[in-house]
Amino acid sequence: MGTNIWWVRRDLRLNDNQALQKAISAGKPVIPLFIFDPKLLNSSNAGERRIAFLKGCLSELDKDLRLRGSRLIVRRGDPAEILKNLVKECNVDKIFAEADYSPYARRRDGTVAEQLPLALVGGLTISHPESIVKDDGTPYRVFTPFMRRWKEKYLSTDLRSTSVPDLISTPGEIQSEKLDIQADFQSKEFEPGEKTAMAKLKRFTQSPDHGIEQYADMRNRMDKNGTAILSPYLRFGLLSIRQCVSAALQIMQTAPDESARHSAEIWLNELIWREFYFSILFHFPFVMKHSFKEELRGISWRNDEHEFSAWCKGQTGYPVVDASIRQLLETGWMHNRGRMIAASFLVKDLVIDWRWGEKFFMQQLLDGDPAANNGGWQWTAGTGTDAAPYFRIFNPILQGKKFDPRGDFVRSWVPELSKVPDKYIHAPWEMETDLQKSIGCIIGRDYPLPIVDHGFARERILEVYLQAKQRYQ
Ligand code: FAD
Repeated sequence: MGTNIWWVRRDLRLNDNQALQKAISAGKPVIPLFIFDPKLLNSSNAGERRIAFLKGCLSELDKDLRLRGSRLIVRRGDPAEILKNLVKECNVDKIFAEADYSPYARRRDGTVAEQLPLALVGGLTISHPESIVKDDGTPYRVFTPFMRRWKEKYLSTDLRSTSVPDLISTPGEIQSEKLDIQADFQSKEFEPGEKTAMAKLKRFTQSPDHGIEQYADMRNRMDKNGTAILSPYLRFGLLSIRQCVSAALQIMQTAPDESARHSAEIWLNELIWREFYFSILFHFPFVMKHSFKEELRGISWRNDEHEFSAWCKGQTGYPVVDASIRQLLETGWMHNRGRMIAASFLVKDLVIDWRWGEKFFMQQLLDGDPAANNGGWQWTAGTGTDAAPYFRIFNPILQGKKFDPRGDFVRSWVPELSKVPDKYIHAPWEMETDLQKSIGCIIGRDYPLPIVDHGFARERILEVYLQAKQRYQ
């Protein structure tokens, strides 16, 4: 009897795993295989923290497989070569893998499929990027109509999850390499593994305080844990998107009142943003290099290295920007509002190319994902698909006051400002000298003066964008 390979990539889970289900459905033994691909490991977008998180998740997956009589086989090298050898060595009939839509993944899988029996299976998204298109067959370029069509198509379909098999039979003689990739980072916020991911989803959707039912009101509050904080788990498929969407739909049907139902729907919409950006990257892969909007491809960026370095360290002198970046540096995750504020500051206040920030985020984020990260950066820069106009420029002081009203978020990530009174927490340079002395925080010595004046920066970037548009015409 032949064997099947379950080629694990971004689906490090046993529950609701369509590729695994397919691999075992013929009753054949299955080889769960993970390949460390040097092209990905050595890419300038790879981040040590994300690799460390991946390593932890692979180790948990191996434990879960062992409980079912199987184990994870790990190899390192070119995927096509490794698979070719394994297919020969183990009399493999078919390789099942969850389809991935990044340009690199599509090229890699195309090469493998030319030589080997590779079957790509859904699961990374609910909608295949080619399944949600306009009536004339062209892809959507704007979120809201995409979302409407997505809901028409999928809300009435069966989104039930598949269960984990009790036993997975794997041939005993296959050698596995050790999980000894050099990458050290441990985040107390993000313990690796499918069990933790499931518990976090359960807590967000089912615990008595039901985070999901307050999501609409709380999701922008940086000082509260008002979002699901699940993105690293979704990034590596420790949860399926189908499990998340099903949980949202269930709350929408059983919510005690309209406000709770509405909140669950707002969360569902965020999950659909994820689907939307996968679709954008699939249909317009050039976004990885260029602005989606042609008329904004010729912006004259200042790209000041010194200012970029200050931004990367959380030393811009704008507390909410610095707190957001420091949250990222410490935990490998950043609140969505912080991502928007920090990204806007880099692009609009410092006139630094959004691609610099995109790369930095990819290197630091546990959830770093080419589609969502590119979508978020282009949206914030105003160069992207959606309706974020280029003249929307976040004011970091007002954003701080609105989404961190008492400054608790700032104080927890920027300890130098811990004694600054609420009134000045988002503009500490406005404190009288005597007050600075009495609290032991001299602005310009203990915490930087603002790297740029926001009012001046606002006028400057408007001019820069206008010039780019005029040059295009
Ligand atoms: P929740 O608000 O609870 O949302 C649930 C899930 O929906 C998230 O886990 C995520 O998978 C998805 N989601 C939510 N918002 C978005 C969005 N705008 N775009 C795509 N998916 C979304 N998200 C990433 O997963 N990886 C990235 O690399 C990434 N980079 C970003 C860069 C910038 C500049 C911006 C503005 C946003 C970026 N996002 C990225 C989107 C968003 O910030 C995170 O998904 C979110 O903060 C994760 O926290 P959460 O799990 O609590 O999200």
